[in-house]
Amino acid sequence: MNLENFAAETAGKFERKFKRKPEWIVAAPGRVNLIGEHTDYNDGFVFPMGIERYTVIAAAPNNSRTIQLLSATNGGTATIDLTKPIIRGEPSWANYVRGVIDGFIKKGQSIPGFDAVLDSNVPMGGGLSSSAALEVATATLLEEATGFKLDPVEKALLAQKAEHDFAGVPCGIMDQFTSVMAKKGHLLLLDCRSRTTELVPLTDPGITILIVNTNVKHELTGGEYAKRRAQCEKAASILGVPSLRSATMPMLEAARGRMDDVIFRRARHVITEIERTLEAAQEIRQSHWSQVGKLMYASHLSLRDDFEVSCSELDLVVDIAREIGEAGGVYGCRMTGGGFGGCTVALVQSGLSGQITSHIGRVYQEKTRIEPAIFSSRPGQGAMVLK
Ligand code: ADP
Ligand code: MG
Repeated sequence: MNLENFAAETAGKFERKFKRKPEWIVAAPGRVNLIGEHTDYNDGFVFPMGIERYTVIAAAPNNSRTIQLLSATNGGTATIDLTKPIIRGEPSWANYVRGVIDGFIKKGQSIPGFDAVLDSNVPMGGGLSSSAALEVATATLLEEATGFKLDPVEKALLAQKAEHDFAGVPCGIMDQFTSVMAKKGHLLLLDCRSRTTELVPLTDPGITILIVNTNVKHELTGGEYAKRRAQCEKAASILGVPSLRSATMPMLEAARGRMDDVIFRRARHVITEIERTLEAAQEIRQSHWSQVGKLMYASHLSLRDDFEVSCSELDLVVDIAREIGEAGGVYGCRMTGGGFGGCTVALVQSGLSGQITSHIGRVYQEKTRIEPAIFSSRPGQGAMVLK
């Protein structure tokens, strides 16, 4: 469903629930990262785009000191009392909203009471950042409700802080930056050290981004993520650099005797992945799709073998894609997001994307007995006010 229809449907749900029309309708997209994985918290480069899947919020003031929320996605409701300090609570999904409200209050804003219905067609918990979409949609709504406009970097950082402090997830800056700053028809090359972005056009109608949700989520995610971060910090400290962004392969090779093999491999992934990401941006600018695809496969192998964050289901999708090959319209494929489940991203020929989708879907299901969710997306627009 396109955004316009999805927003109209959400407005209809608001009217049925709250018996009046919404005054504001806002949207913020999920994201997919084409390449540059586990590099954001190492001050490296990432290369994501917004997807044409959005979290939409329809809302109107209610002349009270409370916020009434309904998530049409999970059917849950929540009340937030604006006369009390905003703290984490139940239901836990509302913490993403509470965190953003708290961020606005800490910037000196007084938040009016309002009623809101939110809905999302970003799959939840699939690594496409429904959490950032919810935070950024909330921040966009509060900009409208308070008249206080944040600059895009400030807005993304406020949303990230909400995820850190209210959801307890120590994420990097990629998800929120992308949901705020994504631009239709473009990838976003984001330098996580300087926090500057560059838009790289991806408008060739012959090229499609295909996302396969493996529909598995292995539960070790939280602890393993923290472990990887700590290992990267350890590697940086042995190398005597502020972060792995400042390290090079010759430096790492020279220090091989001073670190154990695991730390060495973690650092090798990050250093080579940052290089691959910059190369991929160059190749995309020149429409060298085969080259981009090769970098994506190399990224996957590095995540699988050196960083050890893949899983059999992600590897299977990448193997099926590689077997289809360029002759069958697949340039490249890799896991995307934190790993241990979630999604793969592939660069494919638009004309063959239907065939590729059914082939991957059939073989994956045969081998795993799990039905994947597969969809394509053009690079979508970042957060927007629709009404
Ligand atoms: P991801 O960001 O990869 O989708 P996360 O675990 O970070 O996965 O975030 C998913 C969580 O965000 C959900 O479990 C839920 O708490 C919250 N969430 C996101 N979108 C919605 C929504 N539309 N309604 C209710 N909760 C949502
Ligand atoms: Mg998330």
